[in-house]
Amino acid sequence: MRLDFDNTLEVLENEPLSKHSSFKIGGEARYAIFPKSKDELISAIETVTRNNAKLAIVGNGSNLLFDDDGFDGAIIFTKSMSSTEYVHSASGTFIRAECGKSLTELASEAGKKHSLAGLEFAYGIPGTLGGAVYMNAGAYGGQMSDVVIETEYFDPSNNEIKVIDKKEHDFSYRHSVFEDHPEYVILSTLLELKEGNAEEIFAAMSKNMSARKEKQPLEYPNAGSTFKRPGGNLFAGKLIEDSGLKGYTVGGAQVSEKHAGFIINRGGATCRDVLAVIEHTKNTVLEKFGVELECEVIYIPR
Ligand SMILES: Cc1cc2nc3c(=O)[nH]c(=O)nc-3n(C[C@H](O)[C@H](O)[C@H](O)COP(=O)(O)OP(=O)(O)OC[C@H]3O[C@@H](n4cnc5c(N)ncnc54)[C@H](O)[C@@H]3O)c2cc1C
Repeated sequence: MRLDFDNTLEVLENEPLSKHSSFKIGGEARYAIFPKSKDELISAIETVTRNNAKLAIVGNGSNLLFDDDGFDGAIIFTKSMSSTEYVHSASGTFIRAECGKSLTELASEAGKKHSLAGLEFAYGIPGTLGGAVYMNAGAYGGQMSDVVIETEYFDPSNNEIKVIDKKEHDFSYRHSVFEDHPEYVILSTLLELKEGNAEEIFAAMSKNMSARKEKQPLEYPNAGSTFKRPGGNLFAGKLIEDSGLKGYTVGGAQVSEKHAGFIINRGGATCRDVLAVIEHTKNTVLEKFGVELECEVIYIPR
């Protein structure tokens, strides 16, 4: 497959995906594209769809598991699209940011520089704004649906840019309309924050970050919580721990000893290793507790 992209686009061929995954796992992408603007992103998508090639959109790769065989198509990385605009108006204080904006950077900038509260929960989530809206990322009692007002996205099926309001996001726990329509590409999102006190905001963010460092296996490559919370009072990590699976290892992949809700790459883990740990964990928890765990980590290609 040979694709001829607009020659102003940054395109890498046969790019190792392990370099773009927080798990540090994955074979090569035939094409890796790094658009710097909405127009570049849309031009890249049009080239891929015109040629009926496979396409995936990746933010910071912090919730993904790339296959060992890589991706025989084009992956668009949004990280270089991060322009951010602050709007103070009579109706409130808003931020419009492009999809590739780092969530932690956005939270920090909003809180420390602009004294805006509302994104304290997001500080320390290692994704982009687009990735966070896609799965309604959340932590420490907050989630994206608390602050999102509208999202602008590109629909490749009819080459249209559309805008949806909060309700149309169909947000629920770790879910948005974008999960049901993986072909939609988030371009930018408008958030509403509240005027606050920079010191208090910074203190809340520091507290969340300390809790992360204490509880999560940040010393090893990982992709965050492997499974969604099963609902009710159940926690995936607790069920996995109570199944005696802490430390369960296949090749380089292991159920973290520090937090059973995470799978870590102890060195040289392959996608196959991780999938084997996931499979064994799901089967064991189902057998012991009758609970079916659902993966939060997304496998690419799907
Ligand atoms: C150490 C660690 C801690 C974490 N803690 C948390 C936490 O507390 N809470 C939490 O919710 N998550 C957490 N995560 C998971 C992850 O960081 C979040 O899910 C984050 O929102 C993913 O963003 P991303 O940019 O990395 O998305 P990616 O992993 O790149 O992609 C995730 C999905 O979003 C889609 N996507 C990304 N950008 C776009 C776009 N512009 N348009 C359309 N689709 C898009 C991708 O196609 C993919 O399906 C953690 C991960 C790690 C490694």
